[in-house]
Amino acid sequence: LDNKEEFTHTTLATDVMMPRRGDPPLKVVLQENMTVGDLEHLVKTTTYNGFPVITSQDSYRLLGYIYRRDLMVALENARHHSENVLSNSKAYFTLHAPTLSTSGVNEPAPVRLFNVVDLSPITVTDHTPMEIVVEIFTKLGIRQALVTHNGRLLGIITKKDVLRHIARLNKQDPDSIMFN
Ligand code: ADP
Repeated sequence: LDNKEEFTHTTLATDVMMPRRGDPPLKVVLQENMTVGDLEHLVKTTTYNGFPVITSQDSYRLLGYIYRRDLMVALENARHHSENVLSNSKAYFTLHAPTLSTSGVNEPAPVRLFNVVDLSPITVTDHTPMEIVVEIFTKLGIRQALVTHNGRLLGIITKKDVLRHIARLNKQDPDSIMFN
């Protein structure tokens, strides 16, 4: 018990990220298999600044991050652009989407939204110490980072989450942090 260092609990990204244990899962966008209606519903029923884009529900592999604002504008533009864009139009966050010629004239037109995805969001692994996460936020001036484990998306940390974490640390007395 003489080496205090051994008992210091380092807070990790996994301790600060959302969702917490017992929370509903992250609100994500699927690269394929979502309709314009699904996306409009997502935007209407949440207030998050953005959504991680994953390649599939099975893999939860991260493709990128889409800002809520960009998604809303893109959906409005798509609706405006063509009257064949309907609620059941398929949305593709892929480089290539099926072209209209493969679907019938009266079918809902597919919508390609690949261009609005940020393909290089900052990610950290779940085991990254918060000390490092704070440094990344400070030095890169980012608003959110995504948390992954072996390439699988686990959660998100926003700037406010980081600030809350810092506030918590400052209020706690050092002894309690040590054994927490
Ligand atoms: P802020 O933290 O600035 O309020 P948001 O409104 O985007 O930014 O996020 C609010 C909370 O929800 C944060 O604690 C964040 O970690 C979490 N969060 C952000 N995006 C998502 C998402 N797509 N799904 C679930 N939770 C999210």
